[in-house]
Amino acid sequence: MKNLNKLIIITGPSGVGKGTIVKKLLDRDKDIWLSISATTRNPRMGEKDGKNYYFVSNESFKEMIDKKEFLEWAKFSGNYYGTPLSKVNEKIEKGFIVLLEIEVEGAKQIKEKFPEALSIFLLPPSKEELEKRIRKRGTEKEEAIQKRLSRANYEIPFSSKFDFALTNHDIDETVKAVFNIIKSGNSL
Ligand code: 5GP
Repeated sequence: MKNLNKLIIITGPSGVGKGTIVKKLLDRDKDIWLSISATTRNPRMGEKDGKNYYFVSNESFKEMIDKKEFLEWAKFSGNYYGTPLSKVNEKIEKGFIVLLEIEVEGAKQIKEKFPEALSIFLLPPSKEELEKRIRKRGTEKEEAIQKRLSRANYEIPFSSKFDFALTNHDIDETVKAVFNIIKSGNSL
C-alpha cells in the first residue's frame, strides 16, 4: 500500500462519539472517504447494508479472513468487525484521505503493521459520561451496554499508544481538532 500518511485511524471506546465526528468530517471535506466495514452483528433500526456496514454471516466473515481480504479485523462484544482491504487500496491510490473508524484492537493491529498511518484515540470526559452517551443513543440492550462499558475499561488505558489522544468534550471542538490533525498530517 502506498501513501500511508493518507490512512487515518479514528479509535476509542464505543459511545465516545467516533461516528458523529466522522460524519462531520465527511461533510466538511469531499477528499475524505470513510471505509465501510464488514460485520457479523445484526443491523440496527435504519442501518443499511453497504452504507453503514456490509452485514455478513459468520461463515462469510471467516471466508474473508481465510482469503486475506481484511486489512484488519477484531472481535468486539461478541461480533466480528473488519476493514475490507481492496477498497482502501483503491481510494488511497485515487488520492483520497481514507478514514477507518474502528475499535482499539484493530487500530493496534494497523499501527503495528503500518506505523506511518495516523492514529487518533478519542477519550470520553469520564466513564460516567461515556455510560450516559451509550444509554442516550438507545441502540443497545442492557447486556450489550454492560459489555461495551467493560470493554471501554480495557481500551481506555491504550490511548497513549496512539499518535494523538483527544478528549471529546464538545463535538464541534473535537471535529475541528481532528480535522486540523488530518490536514497537517497530510501536508508533512
Ligand atoms: P458498533 O456495533 O457500535 O457499530 O461498532 C462497535 C465497535 O466496532 C465500534 O468501536 C466501531 O468503531 C468498531 N468497528 C467498526 N468497524 C470496524 C472494523 O472494521 N474493524 C474494527 N476493528 N472495529 C470496527
